[in-house]
Amino acid sequence: MADSSTFVTGTQIAYYHLCHRKLWLFAHNIKMEQHSELVAEGKFIDEHSYLKRAERWQELSIEGIKIDHFDAKQGIVREVKKSRKKENAHRAQVLYYLYVLERNDIPVSHGLLEYPKLRQTEEVWLTEGDRKVIPHWEAEVLRITQLESCPGLVKKPICKNCSYYEFCYAE
Ligand code: SF4
Repeated sequence: MADSSTFVTGTQIAYYHLCHRKLWLFAHNIKMEQHSELVAEGKFIDEHSYLKRAERWQELSIEGIKIDHFDAKQGIVREVKKSRKKENAHRAQVLYYLYVLERNDIPVSHGLLEYPKLRQTEEVWLTEGDRKVIPHWEAEVLRITQLESCPGLVKKPICKNCSYYEFCYAE
């Protein structure tokens, strides 16, 4: 049985798809998200939507993941994103939730990725191809987070909205 330190989290999977440097910083407890106004705003959106539909959705923690909204009756995972931009990383995070649930024999149907600011909801379905590639994501997350030093800065369009921006771009 793996100990909890070897479990990969949904956030790590998302950061793996966004930026390996961000993944490493986060995994080494260099966390700046909680000071970010954007995150506070995201939490507000999440909690606000949650209250409206509280009776349907439950929290579920298993292995390294914590799903805020799970409809056990229908096997639906719901993830709310504050972003005005859809990211592949968001889809990857929901796919990972579905994968971990399935791996633990929890009946699961699909995911709902909600963007309140865009007023859009996307369905996420786990495919055979995803089931094959996700173990590779996990192995890569573990490899990167165990690197002795932080991966180098790679300038990306997402940098300007990243909570590590000042850390990475300090003179
Ligand atoms: S600012 Fe850019 S390079 Fe630094 S962690 Fe964020 S996304 Fe990665």
